Amino acid sequence: MLQLRKISVLLSSLLLSYAAHAGKLAIVIDDVGYRPAEENKVLQMPQAISVAVLPNAPHAHEMATKAHQSGHEVLIHLPMAPLSQQPLEKDTLTPEMSSEEVARIMRNAVNNVPYAVGLNNHMGSRMTSSLPGMQKVMQALNHYNLYFLDSMTIANSQAVPAAQGTQVEVLKRRVFLDDSQDVNAIRQQFSRAVKLAQRDGYAIAIGHPHPNTVRVLQQMLPTLPAEITLVRPSQLLNEPLHNGTRTPVKPVSPTKPVSPRFQPPGLCKPKRPLTPVPATHALEVVGESVSQSPMFKQVKSLF
Ligand SMILES: [Zn+2]
Repeated sequence: MLQLRKISVLLSSLLLSYAAHAGKLAIVIDDVGYRPAEENKVLQMPQAISVAVLPNAPHAHEMATKAHQSGHEVLIHLPMAPLSQQPLEKDTLTPEMSSEEVARIMRNAVNNVPYAVGLNNHMGSRMTSSLPGMQKVMQALNHYNLYFLDSMTIANSQAVPAAQGTQVEVLKRRVFLDDSQDVNAIRQQFSRAVKLAQRDGYAIAIGHPHPNTVRVLQQMLPTLPAEITLVRPSQLLNEPLHNGTRTPVKPVSPTKPVSPRFQPPGLCKPKRPLTPVPATHALEVVGESVSQSPMFKQVKSLF
């Protein structure tokens, strides 16, 4: 009897260590609304792949509607001012704008991108690092039932503190899939997102409708490990450790200014080094404490 109990404890701890490698992966494709040919390929991918639509893009309304009708989650990809000189989308938010102006732009964006359940920033290193600027964004967002996915285009984004006192829930991007559009680099980033999801329980990756990104996703999505579940970002809002306010995010290096050449249709952010990741995870901690417990050691000695 005692033996059985010990074996059951051992099995529980083994399950616990397996659970630490299961994870949820959310993938969002940004900058949608300019390239229907590539974007339609994204809409043929699993429904959990989500799209973020630029509200003033020529195909914004059409692509948001198509995405929703084909079962994909839709986000508004709201242009926000970068630190570097770049061609800007119409109605790009700046910290200097009045609350009324921010509210007007938000209202237009909601009208132009039907079915959106969330919003993330296009570029935005200057805007998201401004607490007063982001407070205006969160106040405006508070009138809609939209979550905010921080694209994390700068380390000191103020999205989380700015959301305090509002109902807006904040999520954070962990991996950019295609900072480099080289196929091997995109593959590596995809694998990195999977590993983060396994290690930390979840990860959010952002990519763009570049032909190589589409190709890599088409190739790699069917090869996802069985314990990885593709989810929509909204499915991560209730994750106990990942609601944005309690997720520790280590700073990344400051963004490098990029040359002000034309890059249609909008580059989300300048290139920069990968984000280091906190090495803590609740399940891993529990698993570790179980493996160090006298009972675990005693059970282990039976085998
Ligand atoms: Zn973008």
